[in-house]
Amino acid sequence: QEKIKEVADVVQRDFFGDNYWTLIERVSKYYYTPLIKVVRTALPPGLVGRSQHRLRLKRENIPNGAEEFLASTAARQILKMLESQANGDYSFKYLKPKVKGFRWGKEQLLKRDWVESYVELPSSPRPKMKPAVTLIDDGFYIDLNKRQREILKVLRDRGGEFWLSEFIQICKTSISTLKTLEQKGCIVIDEREVLRTESGPVVVGDQAKSLTQAQSQALATINQLNGYAQVLLHGVTGSGKTEVYLQAIAPLLNQNKSALVLVPEIGLTPQLTDRFRARFGNKVSVYHSALNDGERYDTWRQMLTGEPQVVIGTRSAVFAPLPNLGLIILDEEHDSSFKQDSPIPTYHARTVAQWRAELENCPLILGSATPSLESWLSVREGRGGQGGLRDQGGQGGLRDQGGQGGQGGQESIFSPLSPPSPLSPPSPLSPPPLRHYLPLPERIYSRPLPPVEVVDMRQELQQGNRSIFSKSLQSALLQLQERRQQGILFIHRRGHSTFVSCRSCGYVLECPHCDVSLAYHHTEEGAPQLLRCHYCNFARSHPQNCPECSSPYLKFFGSGTQRVAQELTRQFPELRFIRFDSDTTRNKGAHRTLLTKFANGEAELLVGTQMLTKGLDLPQVTLVGVVAADGLLNLSDYRASERAFQTLTQVAGRAGRGDDPGKAIIQTYTPEHPVIEAVQRHDYESFIHSELEQRQALNYPPYGRLILLRLSSLDAISVQNAAQIIATTLNSKEGFEILGPAPASILRVANRYRWQILIKFAPDALPQLPDWEEVRRRIAACRETSLCPSSVSLTIDVDPLHM
Ligand code: ADP
Ligand code: ZN
Ligand code: ZN
Repeated sequence: QEKIKEVADVVQRDFFGDNYWTLIERVSKYYYTPLIKVVRTALPPGLVGRSQHRLRLKRENIPNGAEEFLASTAARQILKMLESQANGDYSFKYLKPKVKGFRWGKEQLLKRDWVESYVELPSSPRPKMKPAVTLIDDGFYIDLNKRQREILKVLRDRGGEFWLSEFIQICKTSISTLKTLEQKGCIVIDEREVLRTESGPVVVGDQAKSLTQAQSQALATINQLNGYAQVLLHGVTGSGKTEVYLQAIAPLLNQNKSALVLVPEIGLTPQLTDRFRARFGNKVSVYHSALNDGERYDTWRQMLTGEPQVVIGTRSAVFAPLPNLGLIILDEEHDSSFKQDSPIPTYHARTVAQWRAELENCPLILGSATPSLESWLSVREGRGGQGGLRDQGGQGGLRDQGGQGGQGGQESIFSPLSPPSPLSPPSPLSPPPLRHYLPLPERIYSRPLPPVEVVDMRQELQQGNRSIFSKSLQSALLQLQERRQQGILFIHRRGHSTFVSCRSCGYVLECPHCDVSLAYHHTEEGAPQLLRCHYCNFARSHPQNCPECSSPYLKFFGSGTQRVAQELTRQFPELRFIRFDSDTTRNKGAHRTLLTKFANGEAELLVGTQMLTKGLDLPQVTLVGVVAADGLLNLSDYRASERAFQTLTQVAGRAGRGDDPGKAIIQTYTPEHPVIEAVQRHDYESFIHSELEQRQALNYPPYGRLILLRLSSLDAISVQNAAQIIATTLNSKEGFEILGPAPASILRVANRYRWQILIKFAPDALPQLPDWEEVRRRIAACRETSLCPSSVSLTIDVDPLHM
């Protein structure tokens, strides 16, 4: 078991400020996660080491035909797997899930001394050092020959310092000559740190734009904030939210403060990063998981310096150790990638950002065209518990104590309360409100939002159109080339949407480890076609014949990007398109490359999945097509409507952001669906009101609160029993409702059977933390019974988003 002591050994407690530790402790408590794991999440990888237990083959001890001696299949299996590794060794962590009866098998092998088990200690990241030369004395008074003087002159003329290796090249000199100069006291050769930070491409500098009226109103409110406040910047797509962020940050840097900008996925928003760099130059750094360990470590240390800076990062950057934080921004705050589903802590960056802003006493800006129900309720209706009303009631300092908050965000447990700042309240009776709703209802230059045409695909079929493109979308696609405009084609792809089945017997190719069908992937031209499992990443080549009945007639189903791409090539051979999805953007920098190609007009159409919805600002795009909205609408999840509305609105919002007006075409088999109608009318408010009503009626978030217990095991029976016993134990407790236990929507993933239990808290019975402790205690008690063995793993997902 991991101990807190481990943390203290590596990172001293006062290494960070008190606030930072309060935050870490809060996350640990709220998300039921050992402190060490929160610290690991917060710090760059490798800094707090994770030792690994490994098993290694002792080849010299193993007789020929060893397998025959072994009684257990597990032992044989372990032996085989170790042998398949070049160095004959394997981490327990990876070996164990693959071998049933691992422990027993391992013991047999250890007893015979055929394997050894050892612990591998991690190596922590270090600064990268490189030798450099520095000029001390240009040596004109010292006895030097001409050549040496020349070298010193070069060094002086170039600023007095240089990396050693490069300097040797430039001067065509040698290390021994330089050593001589060092002995004479003219230069110093020493090791200097090379910062490994992602610098990004060179961008042209940029000036602050003169703001629209709505933008300046929003900015004025933000500028007046002094200390903690929560701001919802609700700006329709293309309304200029980013410009507001930029201008809100600028004055902070002059006050020696730093800003933290959180975005859903950084690879998808190279444009956003560029815009920040154009404004703030090298004060901008990025922090996300695609950086290598060295880059993360160095960027992280740069933050600790306290130099005023702007950090743009994904989810985990909410823990950026900026000591002088002046503002936190969550852009696209509705996006579900701010939530971590696994591993623990299953935190939501918005919730943590909220706590952090309160602790650091700085404003938090939540920006979106389609705010989450949580943020809307808390800021707009002052609900998030009783607290919001109290703010307005003149006790601003109290800040929702005991409030329930949407996603947990509005609940404040911090004391002492931060003192009122000297500048803010004009009178002690009216402290500044802590929640602000700042709308940007129009696009820049009053450009219209794109009209949304909804196409009923049932009618298309009736009229004999069997293509995946409606007549309307077809003609719009044809016009793109004529008019030299660009378009985006959005495909919803998740889970079962693409699969291969046999036309003769109906057999569907499935993953051997998960209860899902394999998705068809088209790799690069000429490469073998692959079938892949989206859950465990299992891949196999595409079979020639049906594995069941040997029929050669295999058929692809669904509209993956792949399929759509084939259809496009067939129907519109002239149309140039770029695929933009997880297949084509796997390599580092691929997003940027593809988007640059598109922006340069090398294609008329960008075809892709979810990633198209995230903040792209492509002014030539006039057409957005949604191939089939139905996959989004029909998800068995209480958040399906909210997510569908957000996705469709966001993707439609990519159209018409430039001078030419845009248009969106949504194809669906259920045009009468309320989400579709709301998207068509651009009617966020009425959508959100009816959605809130439904959530309230059923006690779902943001009213009630949820905790999801996820159980899994290699053994189908024991996990089901364990789930049952936990559910029964919990059921006797008042104040919450137990839903389940139920099998997860996909029962088996990577050979593990998964069950879940949902705990639903009523808003009024809302748990203070001590009550949650009770839940935890009961779960812990269950674990001690033999019915819930340790082979059943259990994670507690607080405020779950994906079920
Ligand atoms: P949003 O983030 O709200 O979707 P953006 O910040 O991307 O919108 O702004 C849309 C476009 O309008 C961008 O190209 C941006 O440069 C431009 N823009 C923003 N504010 C202004 C302004 N005040 N004047 C002129 N152009 C602006
Ligand atoms: Zn078949
Ligand atoms: Zn699988």
